[in-house]
Amino acid sequence: MLTKSSTELVRQRNSVLVLAALRRHGALAHTEISDFTKLSSATISAITADLEKAHVIEKSEQQATSGRGRPRVLFRQRRDCGYLVVVVISSDGVQYSLVDYAGKLIDRFSEERSHDPTGAERFIASVKVGLARILSRSKLPQEKVLLISISSKGLVHPTDPVLVWSPIFGSNQIDFESALRPDWRARVILGNETQLVAAALGANEENARPEDFRSLAALSLGHSIGLGIVRRTGQGEREISAPNFGHMLHMANGGLCRCGSKGCIEAYAGFYAILRMAFEVPLDTIPAKFVPVAELDKIAAQARQGHRMSAFAFRQAGIALGNGLSRLLSLTELMPIAIAGPGTRYYDLLRQGVEEGLGQAHVVRMEGMPEIRVVPDESILVFEGHLDRALSLIDQELVLSGIQGSD
Ligand SMILES: [Zn+2]
Repeated sequence: MLTKSSTELVRQRNSVLVLAALRRHGALAHTEISDFTKLSSATISAITADLEKAHVIEKSEQQATSGRGRPRVLFRQRRDCGYLVVVVISSDGVQYSLVDYAGKLIDRFSEERSHDPTGAERFIASVKVGLARILSRSKLPQEKVLLISISSKGLVHPTDPVLVWSPIFGSNQIDFESALRPDWRARVILGNETQLVAAALGANEENARPEDFRSLAALSLGHSIGLGIVRRTGQGEREISAPNFGHMLHMANGGLCRCGSKGCIEAYAGFYAILRMAFEVPLDTIPAKFVPVAELDKIAAQARQGHRMSAFAFRQAGIALGNGLSRLLSLTELMPIAIAGPGTRYYDLLRQGVEEGLGQAHVVRMEGMPEIRVVPDESILVFEGHLDRALSLIDQELVLSGIQGSD
């Protein structure tokens, strides 16, 4: 009994390894799967046969480049094994994408969102309509959608798909699982947006330099300030988290934040905070809900021309970010920092403050400045992060739900 079930566990684990290798490297031949997974040839034959029988993967033949000899047989995820819907909630809209099991984008549309903070109920209703719309456009039966992956800024429950606090809905919690459950059988997951950026960067990093990668922090600059951390925990295994960085204390009894507290990092480094500082508005003024990027562009242009208060606003923002990062590194370890989001367009103005804020920390004085890089397209990283997380969850669930061979 015991041997049977432990054999089964090993088999499941190995099946997940094979699927993960196909995810990372694309279509692979038998020998390549063996190279990447270090599994024996016989094990791979048994697993690929089972996965093929269960319609999870498929074989294709590729003619040898010389045109002679036997064609290579390649395995890959079957596109129609199942589908994923990605829902990206941003400050001004919601984007819906339909993706097949092989990770190919099939359909996408965006809908504008009204800036009504009390409209959590109405918002959920609109998400239901959006999901129904993407399904009807695809003409797929609903049970083919295996997973709905949602992202938002704000504080996400560590295990459940519950948005605990967000800049849009405040502390009006949204439980996506119970909101969608009567209509949808698919699994529902929720991720913090910057957490997904970190997930995508971590996956890229581990592919690029598998021996060296340990950890990385992604910092997103915009109306709100997000942070995601990714750490390597094993081969192809990463742990991602999104601490509540934007609302960590920067200055006791400092500027009023959108969350209602005083002195948060965001109350110095969020777009509304930079605007407030540049116009010398009192720091206890209720911050603007939404600041158009064009407004910030104007302040940045003035700062670059030497306008004192505008330059000071960006420098203060940089110091708040640098101080926060120095605390983060003191509590964790020295790790590279990737800066993303619409605020990267002002990094020339923020940089001096960021370095000044970081430089005050003992860990930085001892071990040197962390590597800081600016990553341009955040929305692509958010989407990649969704796919990285959601598709590997689908792989695991397919294996656990019983592709168990006939023995
Ligand atoms: Zn706050």
